Amino acid sequence: MTAGHAAAPGGRPLLNRRLAEFGTTIFAEMSALAVRTGAINLGQGFPDTDGPESVREAAVRAVRDGRGNQYPPGPGIPELRRAVAEHQLRFYGLRYDPETEVLVTAGATEAIAASLLALVEPGDEVIALEPYYDSYAASIAMASGTRVPVTLRPDAASGTYRLDLDELRDAVTDRTRLILLNTPHNPTGTVLTRDELAAVAELCVERDLLAVTDEVYEHLVFDGTHHPLAAFPGMRERTVTISSSGKSFSLTGWKVGWVTGTRALVTAVRSAKQYLTYVSAGPFQYAVAEALALPDAYYLGLRDGLRARRDLLAAGLREAGFGVFAPAGTYFITTDIRPLGATDGIDFCLSLPERVGVVAVPTQVFYDHEPAGAPYVRFAFCKAEDVLTEAVRRLHELSGLSGLSGN
Ligand SMILES: *Cc1c(COP(=O)(O)O)cnc(C)c1O
Repeated sequence: MTAGHAAAPGGRPLLNRRLAEFGTTIFAEMSALAVRTGAINLGQGFPDTDGPESVREAAVRAVRDGRGNQYPPGPGIPELRRAVAEHQLRFYGLRYDPETEVLVTAGATEAIAASLLALVEPGDEVIALEPYYDSYAASIAMASGTRVPVTLRPDAASGTYRLDLDELRDAVTDRTRLILLNTPHNPTGTVLTRDELAAVAELCVERDLLAVTDEVYEHLVFDGTHHPLAAFPGMRERTVTISSSGKSFSLTGWKVGWVTGTRALVTAVRSAKQYLTYVSAGPFQYAVAEALALPDAYYLGLRDGLRARRDLLAAGLREAGFGVFAPAGTYFITTDIRPLGATDGIDFCLSLPERVGVVAVPTQVFYDHEPAGAPYVRFAFCKAEDVLTEAVRRLHELSGLSGLSGN
């Protein structure tokens, strides 16, 4: 899924060796296809309904009142750092000092990049759960690290993807610097259990590894409970915890994220972050500080609303003939296309807009070992109910068409 690399004068490729394998992301390609064909876009994971009006109004007020229109403080505005610390205490009993143990970033994406740039020496191995969010591989590469995938495997019996703890243990070598852990997990919807996380924590302590955790779906857990890895014994001092306002408040365009960790870890991450963006999103920081303090009813409403839409899309996909892995969290459902007579997710997704007017993402783009993900396709359900209902109606046409499609 990479774009061609033009040769510069002198014949050398323009894009350097670290990034040569990362061209345009599949999301841009699929979203362009959605626009061209007028298809319903269940590819990229952004909500089609904006977050709470009170929070959006808070951002407008901040702009009008002249709060955050100029460079905010490097670590983030104090109001937001306090709100992040209060959030970690309120939901998880984790205590962080807003002065020294919280850092505001340009979304979780910058927090991940800055963490890897700060903590990884060239050649260090970074373990990440595969399939993985598309920025991980590129960020590890930019840090000159070596990525070591540990693959979550589809388990037909439970209808979920599971982590094999033995495989994780076997992946650790003397060169392993850190585990980049994403739970709730995009794209599979897996939510690691308390026992699984306890085992990951033990492994980190035993092998003296750092952990960087991507918890952007912390409030979108439909079955089970989200446990931050930092809460497990021995983990506070070795975990960089990352989250963001994008998914929790349906404001993915604001790009306000944050890091919590010990002073030493946060200082290290900040050393890299300050030369990436320095600071960002001044007025939005004031609004997100208010958002984090919303009452439980807000968080529960967000979760319950998305759970209902998960159920709607999962049932529709099943009826349409897909194999469905019901996600315990996130915005996404992974499906098996083989019951529809297809085997290659990329071909399937490239033809789906023309065939029935729906866009999805082939899961294999989230893998290093492409064959592992070949027959799987991801659908996003963070869309309005009538959009999902119409998408399901269209997908039902597949059962009739699948014999003719040739893939
Ligand atoms: C959406 C997403 C992000 C990006 O978060 P931003 O705050 O928009 O940068 C990071 N990780 C995962 C797993 C995501 O799905």
